[in-house]
Amino acid sequence: MKRLSIKARVTIWYTLLVALIALLAAGTLFFSARRMMRNYYQETLDSTTQLALDDIRMEDGELDIDRDLDDLPSVRVALFTEAGDLIYGQVRFELPFAEGEMRSATERSGEEWYVLDTRMEFDGAQNVWLRCYISADTAMNLGAIGLELAALILPALVILAGVGGYCIARRAFRPVARITRTAESIIDGTDLKKRIALKGARDELYRLSRVFDDMLDRLERSFERERRFTSDASHELRTPVAAILAQADFALSDLAAEADRVEALRDIRLRAGQMSTLINRLLALTRMDAGQTRLEWERVDLADVAEAAAMQIEDGAAARGMTVECACEGPVWAMCDQTMLTQALLNLAENAVKYGREGGHVRILARAQAGENILGVEDDGPGIAPEAMPHIFEHFYQGDRSRQAGGAGLGLSLVRLIVRLHGGRVEAESEVGRGSRFIIVLPQQAAMDAQAAEKP
Ligand code: ADP
Repeated sequence: MKRLSIKARVTIWYTLLVALIALLAAGTLFFSARRMMRNYYQETLDSTTQLALDDIRMEDGELDIDRDLDDLPSVRVALFTEAGDLIYGQVRFELPFAEGEMRSATERSGEEWYVLDTRMEFDGAQNVWLRCYISADTAMNLGAIGLELAALILPALVILAGVGGYCIARRAFRPVARITRTAESIIDGTDLKKRIALKGARDELYRLSRVFDDMLDRLERSFERERRFTSDASHELRTPVAAILAQADFALSDLAAEADRVEALRDIRLRAGQMSTLINRLLALTRMDAGQTRLEWERVDLADVAEAAAMQIEDGAAARGMTVECACEGPVWAMCDQTMLTQALLNLAENAVKYGREGGHVRILARAQAGENILGVEDDGPGIAPEAMPHIFEHFYQGDRSRQAGGAGLGLSLVRLIVRLHGGRVEAESEVGRGSRFIIVLPQQAAMDAQAAEKP
């Protein structure tokens, strides 16, 4: 049974059930018909006995029968002495006399009878047995007809139930076949664009197909993202690799003077450094995307995080004649992974130096505000064009100046992922010509929990 399809199993169970119900119904009908027939015989025998009793009298030791009892409709009447000798009527079968209870008897010819005996007592004369009996043929015929009908109808009913059940099951399972076909064609052709798109009744299978289609939507989107990511990543890596190869070839050629070779090595070093940053970011992104990054939660003063970031950009900022200010209203306690959060803030601060105004100002801030902890970076650079704003957090998105500066468009994506892992959000505001402001907002609840946990 386990090897059969659900369709076949449903059909078999359905057919068995119908056969069982039909058998039960036929049995009930048969037995109630028999009971009704018995009641009918009992009543007929009772009323005939009553008629016969009224017609039989004993006068001067002689039996006086008023009418010919053989004329009574369908019932035979016979009279016997107490010793069993026939006085009136016929003997058709041997059956000991018993008062009051209807019994069945079989004649030698095989004919069945229902029998009712009544004992008649007469004062001063011998008693007499009145025997009324009626042919049980109708009941027997009814039983035989019933059996014949059952033998004909039951198999027909079972076949009908089987065929009908199979058709119903096939119709009900048609969507399953469609789902299977779609899944198979996707496996065969790896075409994730196919959908089941079931129409009709909004039943369980419709819901299943919707879930399946939603899953395919997500799979398609995630494959597409992965494909784009891989192609963007290889593209980003190809440029520095090509430059490194070209510089190395040049340095190795006879054309290069000693000074050119040193210059080429410097360029190779710079590009290899950029590649290293890119590879590290790619690795961090894929790990975070795959949920493989575990945060080292600790209680941290965000003012320290801000100061660490400010220190790290100082040299770069000085090289562009920029000033760095750390505006911290500390201590600002928060539960976070200090290394990762510092990395996120550093990405924002490095961008401020990279894209800020030459000789401009960078402000790094940390403060608690309205139940939230804030870390931010502000600059007074040229700002971000409104049409670029919706894209700056996308993987590999780069503005024009980034391409000149050797960026790869992964810095802000990483910031957003790190902050999300902390249960927070990043907000960006910018005004062209006036500067940009990036804010990391972290929920304060974690910090409060940490403080509570610290108290004895
Ligand atoms: P990258 O800096 O490597 O290009 P990011 O993801 O860090 O990548 O930044 C994406 C883009 O957002 C940058 O290319 C740049 O155009 C823009 N951007 C980010 N920060 C600033 C900023 N402080 N001022 C102006 N533009 C910025």
